[in-house]
Amino acid sequence: MIRLDHVFKRYPNGREALSDLSLDIAAGEIAFLTGHSGAGKSSLLKLIALIERPSRGRLIVNGQNVAGVSRSRIPAFRRRIGMVFQDHKLLHDRTIYDNVALPLIVAGIGGKEIGRRVRAALDQVGLLGREHSVPLELSTGEQQRVGIARAVVSKPPLLIADEPTGNLDPDLSLEVMNIFRRFNEVGVTVLIASHDLLLLEHFPVRRIRLEAGRLAGDSPAHVIASEP
Ligand code: ADP
Ligand code: ADP
Repeated sequence: MIRLDHVFKRYPNGREALSDLSLDIAAGEIAFLTGHSGAGKSSLLKLIALIERPSRGRLIVNGQNVAGVSRSRIPAFRRRIGMVFQDHKLLHDRTIYDNVALPLIVAGIGGKEIGRRVRAALDQVGLLGREHSVPLELSTGEQQRVGIARAVVSKPPLLIADEPTGNLDPDLSLEVMNIFRRFNEVGVTVLIASHDLLLLEHFPVRRIRLEAGRLAGDSPAHVIASEP
């Protein structure tokens, strides 16, 4: 599903964010991406979403070599990746319905189908009935769930999240993580960048640890190595 083969990422300012990174995430897996701030987690997620391109090495996402995805094909490529951010990036002057519908409208999907899919996505995150609210009428945890609904509304086979619980208290973090797990249980591949220790403790899933842009640890689901 995701394969990195000796991937490097160097930014224009010379900063090497990822160095010789090789790793495989199989279809249907759920994994945490951990490491201190600056370790390269966001950079890796940006390469996967084609927000940035590798400087060297081979990166396969959803069975596609990103080197072969031209600029004009990026929107179609991204439709197969659900992205969740820490600050959820909701449009505050739009309703919950409009926020979740946005990726479908951009994709040119028709009206009736949009309504059906938006309600299904809101149902999956427990927010059915809140379509007509605006983001500020919802709690922080609910807003983050809207962000997840928007990420999954196109039914992407891959879900990536960058510190999705960074602004949430422990109960809400676990709730959000349980939503990710439910998507994983129905076959979605999930990669979550997080240094939320509580979350890591509660969910014994695979952990891929980066340190200064290099792979510093990769522990399978049932073996939990202690974080330094
Ligand atoms: P986090 O640790 O939560 O990933 P960062 O502070 O590393 O946050 O990065 C925040 C944003 O700023 C990211 O989009 C990252 O790509 C960008 N960024 C980080 N460092 C630099 C830099 N030196 N120059 C330009 N952009 C940067
Ligand atoms: P993390 O998400 O683990 O905090 P990042 O991927 O954001 O790590 O950052 C890795 C390194 O790359 C950091 O040193 C950061 O400052 C640098 N970096 C990130 N984005 C940029 C950018 N757009 N331009 C230059 N340097 C960046």
